[in-house]
Order: sequence, then C-alpha cells, then structure tokens
Amino acid sequence: MTALAASGARLEVSALHASYGSGEVLHGLDFHVEAGEAVVLLGANGAGKTTTLRALSGMVRTRGSAVLDGQRLLGRPVDHTVRLGVAHVPQGRGVFGELTVEENLRAGAYLRRDRAGVETDLAHWYEVFPRLAERRTQQAGGMSGGEQQMLAVARALMSRPRLLMLDEPSLGLARIITRRLFDQLGEINREQGTSMLIVEQNAELALAFAHRAYVLESGRLVRTGTAAEVRADDGLRRAYLGY
Ligand code: ATP
Repeated sequence: MTALAASGARLEVSALHASYGSGEVLHGLDFHVEAGEAVVLLGANGAGKTTTLRALSGMVRTRGSAVLDGQRLLGRPVDHTVRLGVAHVPQGRGVFGELTVEENLRAGAYLRRDRAGVETDLAHWYEVFPRLAERRTQQAGGMSGGEQQMLAVARALMSRPRLLMLDEPSLGLARIITRRLFDQLGEINREQGTSMLIVEQNAELALAFAHRAYVLESGRLVRTGTAAEVRADDGLRRAYLGY
C-alpha cells in the first residue's frame, strides 16, 4: 500500500471543560494520544464521550487546552481544526446523502490544493474500500449503513488527517460489518501511522483494536490503561463497560 498520509500527530489535552449553555458536562479532562496511537474513549451513555470529540473539533464551548503537535486547537473554528489535521467522523456518519460516493470523497478533500495528490488518494481509498469503488456514481443516501460508515471514514481520510476522531462507528451496524470496519481501521493505523481517538460503546471490539483506553464517567476520566490492562480488569469491565 502506498504511504499517503502525513504521519500521525500527538494530542495533549489538559483541564478540558465543555458546556452546553450554562450546563458544564466535561469537568477538566487530562489525556493524550501519542503520535500513531489508537486510543479509545469508553463510558456509559451521557458520560461525555461525544462532547469530548466535539470540544476538540471546536463545536462546543470549552475551557482548558488541547494541543496537536504544538498547535493550539481550542477556541478555533471547525475548518481551522481540519487545516491542522483533525478529521472528525460524527455519530450517524454525516455523509451527504444526495451526493454520489465520489462527490462525498472529494468533499473530504475540500481544503487541499494538491490536485494530483487528491487523485492518488482517491484511487488508494477505492483500493482499500472496493465497495466504494463499485458504487462511486451512486447516491450515498441509498447505500447500506456499513457502506455509509466506510464512506464517512474514507471521506475523513481524504483530508489526510494526522488525528482521526470517530464517534461510535459501530452504531447501527451488524457485528460482522463492525468487525471488518475495525480491522480496516487497525490496518490504516498501522500502515499510515494516523493517530486515532475513537468513541465506542462496543468495548470488547474497541479494546481488541486500540492501544490504550480511557474510561469517562459523568464528565470525568476515572480510569486509564493499556487496552490489555483494561480488558484484564474484571471490576472495571463490570462497573463501566457492561460485559
Ligand atoms: P452517548 O453514548 O449517549 O452519546 P456520551 O458519553 O457521548 O453519550 P454526550 O453525548 O457527550 O455523552 O453527553 C454528555 C452530557 O451532555 C449528557 O448529559 C447530555 O445530556 C448532555 N448533552 C449532550 N448534547 C447536548 C446538547 N446539545 N445540549 C445540551 N446538553 C447536551
């Protein structure tokens, strides 16, 4: 596989607070993602996982600091975080249903000026996700949930991110499709070195894929460890991960 992406960036988050209106939902998170690392954020519904990704993308009001390879992320507009190398695949995928697969992929590269590079990347991601190549002229909205999730990931990769953030990629997908998607994400992480921060309800699958995990409870990080440590901790699994 051709090496495409700029190598992964290091993310360092300190004392991150976030709020909706007057209600604070993140109460001072400290965490990091090493360059090239895949980190999973776990926790019950409402713990603040989605908000953490939104905060890093500039979609909610924040205090604190988040630095990507020396560049400040917080308090900047969304397109600025994209320019700095952050790609965010939101919950529910957010593909443009009326556009074709190829138009969606090109939309992922909207900030890029290297036209030849965009064509190379397009060919590359069609190779990685052959289903998308078969459906390149079809409207994205007519595809299955699994295909739309692949498209959302590939579209994010078209920006050549140094940090890829995914919110609940397994949502609404059959187990076998989710497993395949995580296999592909693992391959991308290993081969491209893209840093990844993933929110996932399916803790078992996520821990099989990630290097490290953080557990969030009511807007606070309560545990962290390598994926193997978290998997081996029966108490933690029962208390927070529900399996
Ligand atoms: P889930 O798995 O259910 O998405 P989560 O861990 O991602 O949960 P968040 O979606 O980040 O949790 O929500 C954290 C808290 O913020 C919850 O109490 C939620 O009710 C609240 N919240 C989320 N979105 C909004 C919003 N747009 N306006 C006000 N409060 C919100």
